[in-house]
Amino acid sequence: MFWNREMETATGAELERIQLKRLKWTVKQASKIGFYQKQLAKAGIAPDDIASLDDIERLPFTKKQDLREGYPFGFLAVPKREVVRIHTTSGTTGKPTVVGYTRGDIERWAELIARDLTMIGLSEDDVFQNALGYGLFTGGLGFHYGAELIGMTVVPSATGNTRRQIEMIEDFGVTAINSTPSYAMHLAEVAEEMGAGLETLRVGTFGAEPWSGSMRKELESRLGITAYDSYGMSEMFGPGAGFECQERDGLHFWHDSYYVEIIDPATGERLGPGERGELVVTPLVKEAMPLLRYRTGDITMLYEDGCACGRGQKIARIMGRSDDMLVIRGINVFPSQIEHVLLAMPEVGEQFMVYIDRIHHLDEMTIDVEMNRDYFSGELKDLDRIQAKVTGALRETLGLRTRVNLVEPGTLPRFEGKARRVVDRRKEVW
Ligand code: ADP
Ligand code: ZN
Repeated sequence: MFWNREMETATGAELERIQLKRLKWTVKQASKIGFYQKQLAKAGIAPDDIASLDDIERLPFTKKQDLREGYPFGFLAVPKREVVRIHTTSGTTGKPTVVGYTRGDIERWAELIARDLTMIGLSEDDVFQNALGYGLFTGGLGFHYGAELIGMTVVPSATGNTRRQIEMIEDFGVTAINSTPSYAMHLAEVAEEMGAGLETLRVGTFGAEPWSGSMRKELESRLGITAYDSYGMSEMFGPGAGFECQERDGLHFWHDSYYVEIIDPATGERLGPGERGELVVTPLVKEAMPLLRYRTGDITMLYEDGCACGRGQKIARIMGRSDDMLVIRGINVFPSQIEHVLLAMPEVGEQFMVYIDRIHHLDEMTIDVEMNRDYFSGELKDLDRIQAKVTGALRETLGLRTRVNLVEPGTLPRFEGKARRVVDRRKEVW
C-alpha cells in the first residue's frame, strides 16, 4: 500500500526536520549556479542563513523566463560529466527549456513515480501500457522507469498508431493505461469503432494537461476504468510530483521532495489552505538542477491537512495555468470550462477548437464543436436547436456570448500528446 511509508506519512516535527535538512542542501546546491549566486547576493541571504522553513520566504522567486535565459545549460549545478540525461519542456508557452539529471536524480524520480503508482494499487501483477511520448518529453521515460521499479510489466507503446495500441491492450492483457487525457479520449473513440471491449483494463492515469471532472466520468465509463490525475512538470523532474490517491479528492504532493507554497500571483503574498493562487515549488531533492521557489504558473490551492489514506499534503486539481486563461472582453475563461459544458450535453462530442479574434476592437470567441454521431441527422432545424442549446449553456457557465459552429463528427484534430485547442488570433492594435 505504501512504497515509502516513512516519507509518505511523515508529519509535524518529523516532516519539518526532513524538509529543513533538504532545503538547506538545496540552497547550497543552487548557490553553485551563477544565476542564484547573483540572486542570493541581491536578497542578502547566504545558504548558511537558512535556519528554519520560514526562511524560504526570504529567497527570491525563479520564473520560466529565467530558465529561458539560461538556455541550454545555465542552470546546471554539477559538471556536465555528471549529467546522465537531459529532457526538455514541451514548449507549450514558448521556447522549450532544458532540464538535466544526475544518476541520483533519475533514481529519486523513479521512486516518486513508483510511490504514485503503488498508492493507487498497482503492483507487479499489473501490465502497464505507457502511451506517452518517449524522447525529450519527460512523460514517457519518467513513467517507464517508475513502473519498472515496481516490477510491473511495462508496454512502452508511446503515442500514435492508435489501432495498434488497442490491439496491444487486448493481446497483452493490459490492466493500466497511462496517457494524456485527450489521447485517452481518442483511444476510447477508436476502441469503440473497432468494437474492442478492453476487458482487462481497470486503471487509467492521465495528466500533462488540464482535464475536467466530466472528462473523468466520460473516460471511466468508455474505457471501463478508474481514472487518476497525475501532475508534474519538467522543472520538477517531470511527472510524479502530484498524484491522486484512491480517495481521488485532491493530489498528494510529495512533501519530502517538494516544498509547496501558494501565492497571490499579483502580489507574491503567501496564501493559506483553501485559497486559490499560483503554485510555487522548491524541489528538495534535485541535484543537477536545483530550483528555488519556482513559479509554475499553475493555478490551484492547498487542502487542509489529512487524508483518509494516511498520506500528507494535498493540492486541488489544476484548472489550467495562468497563461491558459483567456481574457475575453474582461472575463476570465479556462478551456477546461468549455470542455465541462460540452461533456454535459449528449448532442455534441467532447472535441472542440476555440478561435479568438478581435473584431472592431471587441474580442470574439468562436468555438467549433463536433456533433455526436447519434444526433447528426443533417436536418437544419435540429442543428439550429442544438446550436442554440450549446450557446446558451456556454453563456450560462462562462458568462460570455460565444459563436458556436457545429461540425461533423471526426473532423476536428485529435492529439497524441497535449491538446492544443485554442487559437488566439488577436493582434495587439495600438
Ligand atoms: P510545458 O510547460 O512546456 O507544457 P511540461 O511538459 O513540463 O512543459 O508541462 C508541465 C505543465 O503541464 C504544467 O505546468 C501544467 O501546466 C501542465 N500539467 C501537467 N499535468 C497536469 C495536470 N494533471 N492537470 C493540469 N495541468 C497539468
Ligand atoms: Zn490520500
